[in-house]
Amino acid sequence: MNHKSDVSIPFGLYSKAPDLIESMPGLGKLKNACPKYIQRAEQAQVLARQFARDELYPRVLDIDAKCAKDPEYFDWELWEKANSLKLNIAPIPEKMGGLGWSALDNALMVEEFTSACMGCASNISFNTFGLLGAMVECRTDTVLKIIRMMVEAQRLKKPVFWSWAITEPSAGTDAEDGDAMTTMRPSSHAQRVAGGYRINGVKCFITNGGLANYVIATIPTDVACPKESMATFFIPSDSSGFSAGRVERKCGQKASQTAELFFKDVFVPDENVWEPPGRGLRHTREILSITRGFIGIGGLGIARGAVERGLRYACEKKIHDHRLIDETWVQMAFADMIKDIMTVRLAGINFAIALDTYHVWKMFDTLPVKAGLELLPEKLLLSRSLEGLASKKFLRSIGNRFKNRLVSDGLIEKFVYYGSIVKVAGTDLAVRITSAVPDLLGLESMSHKYGIEKSFRDAKVTQIYEGTNQANRIDIFNHFLNPGDQAIDDRRPHQRIQ
Ligand SMILES: Cc1cc2nc3c(=O)[nH]c(=O)nc-3n(C[C@H](O)[C@H](O)[C@H](O)COP(=O)(O)OP(=O)(O)OC[C@H]3O[C@@H](n4cnc5c(N)ncnc54)[C@H](O)[C@@H]3O)c2cc1C
Repeated sequence: MNHKSDVSIPFGLYSKAPDLIESMPGLGKLKNACPKYIQRAEQAQVLARQFARDELYPRVLDIDAKCAKDPEYFDWELWEKANSLKLNIAPIPEKMGGLGWSALDNALMVEEFTSACMGCASNISFNTFGLLGAMVECRTDTVLKIIRMMVEAQRLKKPVFWSWAITEPSAGTDAEDGDAMTTMRPSSHAQRVAGGYRINGVKCFITNGGLANYVIATIPTDVACPKESMATFFIPSDSSGFSAGRVERKCGQKASQTAELFFKDVFVPDENVWEPPGRGLRHTREILSITRGFIGIGGLGIARGAVERGLRYACEKKIHDHRLIDETWVQMAFADMIKDIMTVRLAGINFAIALDTYHVWKMFDTLPVKAGLELLPEKLLLSRSLEGLASKKFLRSIGNRFKNRLVSDGLIEKFVYYGSIVKVAGTDLAVRITSAVPDLLGLESMSHKYGIEKSFRDAKVTQIYEGTNQANRIDIFNHFLNPGDQAIDDRRPHQRIQ
């Protein structure tokens, strides 16, 4: 089926953009209160949909087929196109060379991209983990350095890939959860030596493993007490003793490479210890508190893409003397899917707006960050001299202390809960819909050329990473029973309803 065929159903990538308010009219109130915030989101949606429709959609099946033959295949031309539009550094403030996209803007990009291909979306929009890691860790000089590195690379058209390495051959779920970590059997170990740590061990199933320029790894200093001794390390991939192994042949998301990582006496200097022993789990939970929701939105995108492809197929497929789409039972089945997609989209958008309001994105609305971005010239913001100044002991820790006051441990667990809800809802929906669409359309629709079977394979993977959906469910249940004392919004309640 030609993706540009004449189909009159205005759904998905071929529908009118922006449709943020059209599909979620309740946001109209927010648009009235914060017009710039929603207008920017609408612009982000238009750009992301255009890119997904014109650049991703036409080539993703070809990429999938090439990666099936050679797991190390990577479409650099596509990457360059995304890079030229700064889509891979979207959250970096505009003043510093990025797009200044909010969590909401990024969520809309993820939905559009994943409706075409989750693997390609991961290569472009999830590759901000490094930035995320730095923001979460928030040492002033580190944040400035990572932003400078990413902006310089974008301008030079040089790729910068990040890996976030938690999973080990004998510990997946155990490495992400406080209770499970007490029985974890780590295969990696960081030993204290003069001036830093020496790391040995193996990580597995690591996204971008073979491509990464930088790895953020959580590794215990005492294998007998992993929870109490887990630390987070920043490791350039050209460090002596570091290597990447084979790229996995996995069922879906083939465009996104997943590999083993080996550490053999890798020396990490003290300055690259992002979280000291005992704080590694918090770092992991804080990243998960952001990324789980985005994976859920990715699942939503996959589901939407499968419906879009299914609708096109049903418009072209003839049974007897009419189109398959003209059957009422087919229309009802699609109506159910659209209803579920719209419902989960609300959960995803709610999560993204909550990130902007209460989580790390909120920093961009605080006085010191706003004032810094407004008053300091771009050249200075991206300069090594500012980094040098920020690395002074007192200034270095200001960002970290400031952020930890804004984003407390209690708030992180709340967002793990909110994010897990979106993750389970979105990824289970993806599996349900990508499995229901071929049931509806018949055997022929499972041919690779229609893209539906690819969505099916891509969807399955999302239920496993960022914590299995079972582990996410346990987080949901535990938090629901024990939500903690801190209210999400602890400002004094308004005296009058406006
Ligand atoms: C495509 C892909 C990309 C990935 N990318 C990354 C990456 O970039 N970085 C990274 O670190 N990891 C990555 N992973 C690994 C992923 O995070 C793990 O697969 C995941 O955490 C589950 O771990 P596991 O596969 O070892 O399963 P296990 O933890 O062994 O779980 C096996 C089964 O037991 C259940 N289970 C285990 N423990 C518990 C528990 N305490 N309570 C209830 N049920 C439990 C699980 O739900 C599951 O059903 C990726 C995986 C995939 C498939």
